Amino acid sequence: MATLEIKDLHVSVVTDDAPKEILKGVDLTIKAGETHAIMGPNGSGKSTLSYAIAGHPKYEVTSGSVLLDGEDVLGMAVDERARAGIFLAMQYPVEVPGVSMSNFLRTAATAVRGEAPQVRHWVKEVKSAMSELEIDPSFAERSVNEGFSGGEKKRHEILQLALLNPKIAILDETDSGLDVDALRVVSEGVNRFRANGESGVMLITHYTRILKHITPDFVHVFAGGRIVESGGAELAARLEDEGYVKYTGKQEAAQ
Ligand code: ADP
Ligand code: MG
Ligand code: MG
Repeated sequence: MATLEIKDLHVSVVTDDAPKEILKGVDLTIKAGETHAIMGPNGSGKSTLSYAIAGHPKYEVTSGSVLLDGEDVLGMAVDERARAGIFLAMQYPVEVPGVSMSNFLRTAATAVRGEAPQVRHWVKEVKSAMSELEIDPSFAERSVNEGFSGGEKKRHEILQLALLNPKIAILDETDSGLDVDALRVVSEGVNRFRANGESGVMLITHYTRILKHITPDFVHVFAGGRIVESGGAELAARLEDEGYVKYTGKQEAAQ
């Protein structure tokens, strides 16, 4: 059973000037079967948390630890983290011109599973996952994310999630830029993934609307580089009414 333990995590972003501390002591434990919503104002460090766990080189961990089932994640290379079962759906998915979605997915699945999936089985698996996410089959031959709309990119992130079946899924603003239909399709995809009960989800979002489709077990308010309040799903409802003003001193809505 997967457990991700983040302890007193401090992270600085590497800039042209002096490094700037963004995360100022994050503590969070996510267990298999749990969905944790991380909510907070823009610029509070939510994406920085996701990048630091995934191993983005621009984000330097200055102290603290991240353990997956007791294993030191921060000591692993980026690809090792993926193989260990950590998946990140980025807020701004990258375009990879010249690499088709189908090649990309197969390469990723081969890397994560440790062996190439059997072709016949794989083709069925991809077809069925694409159809569940209402993705047109023609997308398989298109370059990764190139010319995709915001909503199409997000659907493809969830397609990867479905096929890679990680232990811990970090979904960074997977709801941003989605219309109502896409939000439903993407949320259903996340709920199917949760239903196995064996994985943990960190659902990062600025807005509460996705939480009407995906009921979190825990909600954490992120402000100024740390978790400033934690609660259950009712905390999201309160944020919808009150926004983040209590935490930032600025008026910022959470709807
Ligand atoms: P959130 O996802 O909560 O909106 P981010 O983690 O993206 O917040 O950003 C937190 C802070 O760190 C912001 O002030 C942002 O400008 C800064 N930051 C993040 N990444 C970089 C970067 N690569 N270079 C410079 N500043 C950065
Ligand atoms: Mg942001
Ligand atoms: Mg962000």
